[in-house]
Amino acid sequence: MKKDIHPTYQDAKVICACGATFTVGSTKKDINIEICSTCHPFYSGTEKSLDAAGRVEKFKARAAKTVVKTPKAKKAAPKAE
Ligand SMILES: [Zn+2]
Repeated sequence: MKKDIHPTYQDAKVICACGATFTVGSTKKDINIEICSTCHPFYSGTEKSLDAAGRVEKFKARAAKTVVKTPKAKKAAPKAE
């Protein structure tokens, strides 16, 4: 290996949003993740997702913005038919 060009390889503490922690080899010190093998439905067999709630909220926020932009006359027309 060449000197002074490689980042330090060390034990990184991985912290999941579900609270699970484990260590892996990495060049980073701490790694924050949203999903891990403990809480992912594929491995745990349970259907719960912290991320899904955030996505719904994001979508609602985006939808609310869109409604403001579109004129009310356009939306009312198809309903009247
Ligand atoms: Zn997790």
